[in-house]
Amino acid sequence: MRILLVEDEPSIADFVQRGLSEEGYAVDIATDGEEGLQWPSVAEFDVIILDVMLPVLDGMQVCSALRDRGVRTPVLMLTAKDAIEDRVRGLDSGADDYLVKPFAFSELLARIRALSRRHPVMQGTSLQTGDLAMDSTTREVSRAGLLINLTAKEYAILEYLMRHPNQVLTRTMIAEHVWNYDFDNASNVIDVHIRNLRRKIDAGSGATLIQTVRGAGYRLRRGREDRP
Ligand code: CA
Repeated sequence: MRILLVEDEPSIADFVQRGLSEEGYAVDIATDGEEGLQWPSVAEFDVIILDVMLPVLDGMQVCSALRDRGVRTPVLMLTAKDAIEDRVRGLDSGADDYLVKPFAFSELLARIRALSRRHPVMQGTSLQTGDLAMDSTTREVSRAGLLINLTAKEYAILEYLMRHPNQVLTRTMIAEHVWNYDFDNASNVIDVHIRNLRRKIDAGSGATLIQTVRGAGYRLRRGREDRP
């Protein structure tokens, strides 16, 4: 999952980016309203976290401009305490939800999960591919009932694969979804993560779930039992 954070206060931006990265989210930061408006035409995001008080353009202006441009990405607005008017204006400008500052990080995570589920491919909190299962609320992954320990990045890649079963996902698609703009796509980091993922999810099992599609990318093969 890739998130755009539009926040001008460095301490808050840093705190949120660090926390979300630890959870496996890829985070890009815009520090003013104009930058926040430009990012969604450069990259595709799953959720946009938008502060209300921003230099150049405020959060409401950014949100209505994004909606005018046809950007449908869920927007979570960060508003000041007691500013009821801000929340109303925020929702009216096209935001999907708001969070009052200061907020608990666990609440931010829960709201991001809830908003990301609005996207058709992100609906459903339990995913199943053959005997591989993932619960996106508890972040538990298991194969044939045995729990598997994944790193945050491995989890993010596997979730992306599981939400697009049988589709060939190129390294660029994976990079753009799981990493932020600073990621060097020319490196073999993705291949290394895939190799580790395979080692973990295929351990002790005959069937290889993650297939390499030569010259194209990777595909998560759906088991015969859950083919439509
Ligand atoms: Ca601010």
